[in-house]
Amino acid sequence: MKKETCLIYTYGAPVLRQKAKSVTVFDEDLKKLAKKMLRDMYTAQGIGLAAPQSGEAIQLVVIDLQQKESEEQVFLDGRSLPIALVQPLFLVNPTWRPAHDLKVEKEEGCLSLPDVRGNVKRFFEIILDYCDLDGNTHRLQCRDLLARCIQHECDHLDGILFIDHLSKKERNEQRELLDEIKAFGGTFDYAEEAEEA
Ligand SMILES: [Zn+2]
Repeated sequence: MKKETCLIYTYGAPVLRQKAKSVTVFDEDLKKLAKKMLRDMYTAQGIGLAAPQSGEAIQLVVIDLQQKESEEQVFLDGRSLPIALVQPLFLVNPTWRPAHDLKVEKEEGCLSLPDVRGNVKRFFEIILDYCDLDGNTHRLQCRDLLARCIQHECDHLDGILFIDHLSKKERNEQRELLDEIKAFGGTFDYAEEAEEA
């Protein structure tokens, strides 16, 4: 049997700095890519993955916080729903705006930056417009971790990484690790790591 790989593009790979193209065709290839990304995200034990991290500079994001027990509610197309019911989320051509001015600082990581952590200030609550994999439009209002994850993943579609939000001092503290990731060559196989673990 062919060994499954789970290649995630890492810091230093040019695709992570590109501006992702809008999706205009909602076909089987798009669904296939979304499913592969979701699988890779689970293998790598992430909660979100943007298409550029899988080497495709298109506006597609998958998210699953896997908070089955959470009592948090979100608004999807005007209806209040438990957060677990709207996930996994497949976001095509997402755009968001803050629901209000409140920003919160929390620690983040990223599958494209193995072992790097840093504090990022983001809007606490956002309103997101996006298409699903069939091209239907939706509006999602959410807060806290899901809102943070969406902002982080949408940044990827603009070629922005969370380390770009860090203070100079914080970034310098991670310099060695960042140089190491860059030197590693642009991809990381999380399937191999999962096997070793
Ligand atoms: Zn990321």
